Amino acid sequence: MKDPDCIFCKIIAGEIPSKQVYQDDNLTAFHDINPVAPVHILIVPNTHITDNNAFSPEDEPLAGKMFTLVRKLAEESGTAEEGYRLIMNTGKNGNQVINHLHLHLIGGAPMKHPMG
Ligand code: 5GP
Ligand code: ZN
Repeated sequence: MKDPDCIFCKIIAGEIPSKQVYQDDNLTAFHDINPVAPVHILIVPNTHITDNNAFSPEDEPLAGKMFTLVRKLAEESGTAEEGYRLIMNTGKNGNQVINHLHLHLIGGAPMKHPMG
C-alpha cells in the first residue's frame, strides 16, 4: 500500500531522491537528510504503515526483518561493535514527524544517557 502524500512512500518508489543503503521486497533503508550523529539511517517498511499504533499481527514478520536489517546495517556502517541507538517515534508526544513507520539507527558517537 502506498500513500500518495507520503514523503517516505515517494522515497521508497524512487520518486524523491535519497542516499539509499538498502532495498528489498519488504524494506528500504536510507540516510536521514538531517543526521543527528555520524551514522543516522532510517529503516522503513515498503508498505505504508502510519506508526506503531497501526502495526498489526499480520505485520509481525516485518518487525523481525527490520531487526535483522538493523544488524546488517550496523555492521556495514561500522557501528555494531561500539554500539548505536534505535529509535521509533510514535505520534505527537513521540515527536513523530513523518507518518510512515520507521526506525532510526543512530551511532558513530557516544549517546547521552538515557536519551538526547
Ligand atoms: P521522525 O521525527 O518522524 O521520527 O523522523 C523523521 C526523520 O525523517 C527526521 O529525522 C528527518 O530528518 C527525516 N526526513 C524528513 N524528510 C526527509 C527526506 O526527504 N529525506 C530523508 N532522507 N530524510 C528525511
Ligand atoms: Zn508512506
